[in-house]
Amino acid sequence: MRALTFVPGGKGTLDVEEVPDPEPGKGELLVQGLALGICGTDRELDAADYGWPPPGKDRMIIGHESLGRVLETPEGSAFSPGDLIVGVVRRPDPVPCGACVRGEFDMCRNGRYTERGIKELDGYGSERWTVEAGYAIRLDPALESVGMLVEPAAVVAKAWEHIERIGARAWFEPHTLLVTGAGPVGLLAALLGRQRGLEVHVLDRAAGGLKSSLVEALGATYHSGTSLESFRAAEPDIIIECTGAGSLVIETMTTTAAAGIVCLCGLSAGGLTHRVDAGVINRDIVLENDVVFGTVNANQRHFRAAAEALAEADRGWLERLITRRVPLSRALEAFEPAGDVKVVLDLTA
Ligand SMILES: [Zn+2]
Repeated sequence: MRALTFVPGGKGTLDVEEVPDPEPGKGELLVQGLALGICGTDRELDAADYGWPPPGKDRMIIGHESLGRVLETPEGSAFSPGDLIVGVVRRPDPVPCGACVRGEFDMCRNGRYTERGIKELDGYGSERWTVEAGYAIRLDPALESVGMLVEPAAVVAKAWEHIERIGARAWFEPHTLLVTGAGPVGLLAALLGRQRGLEVHVLDRAAGGLKSSLVEALGATYHSGTSLESFRAAEPDIIIECTGAGSLVIETMTTTAAAGIVCLCGLSAGGLTHRVDAGVINRDIVLENDVVFGTVNANQRHFRAAAEALAEADRGWLERLITRRVPLSRALEAFEPAGDVKVVLDLTA
């Protein structure tokens, strides 16, 4: 079968190559790969910024935003051939730590977890793949054209779950949400905010075009800019930061309403310094009972919540997030920057 592979730690090593078909182990499903979403992490893997090969190998299969159709199931499985599924990305660490032993491997404490397509496990970027039944999430069949968005939506569903758990420390009836960054994660965060009945604002540096049209289609308000200055007076109850831009990250901490929650989802590059008044930031957070927290990854509960959220969303809107579909045979084109919201590999072509 064909697979999109790379050498972790090597720059620009991506290639479509023939590899042996996977053999399902005990309790595993054999799956036909349908599509694969490509994200910033995959581009970082290709740029050698990130990634660890399976022990004893140098090449590995890339891909963590999966979508597939079940071909074969183990005996007594809750899955059936034909089911539309996605695979969970992370697996618990071998120790395991207290979080992993409780199934919350997205909160792993020792960093020894593994991840499909990123850390020591082959990914989902191949014509066939296998997955342990316990790490497969069944989707509504209607999500066939957009199901590869479930993984990024799972990261967002976890962010929302944690925002709501933090909010529950005291009386909490949020009214407004600000999302910074209108990439796939920001747009999905805005979607889940609208599903919760919030007034949603999305800030992005793009002047307009598709991103603003997608935001407005949600019944949210689009703002073009690079600073939170204009949100100081409005004081959103919740900010979901999806850009990782250092100056914006700092600004979020003093822009929320009292008892505000800032959820950091974006990843910054190191090496950029910003002059900040630490005293002002500290006073704002302490005197307003604010919370600033980071979140990454997702466990099965979040994948299920994401699958439900996408099943309830407007399918046409989700399809508009996918600005390019590239056949596996021309996979490298998917990694060329072209102003996309989301690029998807078609693993059947
Ligand atoms: Zn752990």
